Amino acid sequence: MTAKIIDGKTIAQEVRAEWKVRADALKARGVTPGLAVVIVGEDPASRIYVGNKVKACAELGLHSEHIALPADTPEATLLAKIAELNANPAIHGILVQLPVPKHINSDKVLNSINPEKDVDGFHPMNVGALATGNMRFAPCTPYGAMKLLDKCGISIEGKHAVVVGRSNIVGKPMALMLLQQNATVTICTSRTRDLARHTRDADILVVATGKAKMITGDMIKPGAAVIDVGINRLPDGKLCGDVDFDSAKEVAGYITPVPGGVGPMTITMLMANTVQAAERAAAK
Ligand code: NDP
Repeated sequence: MTAKIIDGKTIAQEVRAEWKVRADALKARGVTPGLAVVIVGEDPASRIYVGNKVKACAELGLHSEHIALPADTPEATLLAKIAELNANPAIHGILVQLPVPKHINSDKVLNSINPEKDVDGFHPMNVGALATGNMRFAPCTPYGAMKLLDKCGISIEGKHAVVVGRSNIVGKPMALMLLQQNATVTICTSRTRDLARHTRDADILVVATGKAKMITGDMIKPGAAVIDVGINRLPDGKLCGDVDFDSAKEVAGYITPVPGGVGPMTITMLMANTVQAAERAAAK
């Protein structure tokens, strides 16, 4: 079997077009959805991510503010900036690019964002809402992975979904979203014994470990849908996922490539969350 390749780039364009219609409808009512992206420090990868987010806002006609603070910014200054953005009616979504420098407590920062503007979905209130089945803002990467399954017509209800990785930004929310859609969910971690026994039983396999090519074709159930969240840089400079694409595509039914799979969906869902935040604010 050769898997159907899930084209994240094309699906991301399609989803962005859908949200542009909603953004345009809001603008026609005099509300331009606004996103503030705050970055502290000079991390080159973070700067690229922030640049891409600001660019995506421009493409959708959203208002964006890019706030770049020096690496030695005191925590109190960052918190004061967030308080200012919380009170700014032109800003519907606030995102603080992680990681922040070590002298800043990231939990304190994330908790200071108004939950109604928490478009990353990391505030404990939004995490709790997701856990209790009342999702308000879904974290963008797993939300994007769910959207890929949806757009490919891959049903979730009753399936066995295995999520490898339990981070707060990918693994855990992914598992909760799959559970919400009535999958039977298994979460695997670095402590899981006989990982392959679990992955081979997955109808839907989501991998988010940050370990290049660790899931090989022999660990996959024939016909499974494989969503590879990982982004790893190989010594030759090329990007690869946490799944060994070449062997996996011979077994899986569907598979996301890296790059071009989940990656393009993350920023797309950030745009979606920003428009949704503006819709909620406008409805008040
Ligand atoms: P973390 O490092 O926070 O979490 C990795 C998880 O994988 C941990 O729960 C860890 O288990 C688990 N793990 C590590 N090794 C193994 C193993 N051998 N077997 C089973 N589980 C294992 O990573 P993130 O969740 O933040 O990111 C995961 C990957 O996704 C990375 O490659 C990252 O670059 C990528 N990513 C991509 C995004 C995108 O936009 N496409 C966005 C965010 C992340 P334990 O908890 O026991 O340590």
